[in-house]
This record gives sequence, C-alpha cells and structure tokens, in this order.
Amino acid sequence: MDCIFCKIVAGEIPSDIIYQDEEAIAFRDIEPKAPVHLLIIPRKHIPSLADLTEAESSLVAHMVNIANQLAAKEGISASGYRLVINCGEQGGQLVPHLHMHLLGGRHLSGALG
Ligand code: AMP
Repeated sequence: MDCIFCKIVAGEIPSDIIYQDEEAIAFRDIEPKAPVHLLIIPRKHIPSLADLTEAESSLVAHMVNIANQLAAKEGISASGYRLVINCGEQGGQLVPHLHMHLLGGRHLSGALG
C-alpha cells in the first residue's frame, strides 16, 4: 500500500519517532506549525476519522491519552495545547491515514478555519 504513514510505521522511511506501543506511534511533523508539533497515528491503516468503526473508536481515546502524556513530556501541559484531526478533503486532510496533530509551545490563533 502506497501510504507514507504506513511506511513510517514499517520503518521504511525515516521519521523522528518519539513514542510507540502496540497500537500507535508518535513522531515529529516534518513541517512543524508550532514549536511542538507531533503526529499521533494508529499502526493500523484507517484512511480517515470517517472510516473509523465503532469497534475501533477506543483507538482515538488511546491517541488522546498518548497526546496528553507527550504534552507533559514536552512541557506544554500548563501552557496549553491543541489536538486536531483533519478529516477528508474539505476538512484539510492531506495524508489519508488517520492522525492527530498535537500543537503547542506558542499562542495558537483562535481561528479554526
Ligand atoms: P493533514 O493535513 O492533517 O493530513 O496533515 C498531514 C501532516 O503530515 C502535515 O502536517 C505534514 O507536514 C505531515 N507530514 C507529511 N509527511 C510527513 C513525514 N514524512 N514525516 C512527518 N510528517 C509528515
């Protein structure tokens, strides 16, 4: 499968992996939009949030838990941070493998669009 994030999971292309477990991995975004910009992704290829089944939904809670742990590790728990999951073309999703952005380390704009 020609999925860049599956290739990162498989170790076929390099990335700055900072967390991994049986279900998910996290790595630094290659084009960071904030001093802390991490991506948390499931190992399993789920194209987008819209493809997540009810049986898989606990995976997203797991990803949030990982994000919270990493925010603490990166020292941004107290200052605040943002978790974003873009879904589909109009949702701004460019990579078709479910992922959660963890952004922080600067004052993020209130704008969502
Ligand atoms: P999205 O627009 O939500 O699909 O975001 C995709 C994100 O993946 C963007 O922030 C990209 O900078 C990031 N990205 C794409 N390729 C890589 C890569 N090889 N390593 C790390 N981050 C990447």
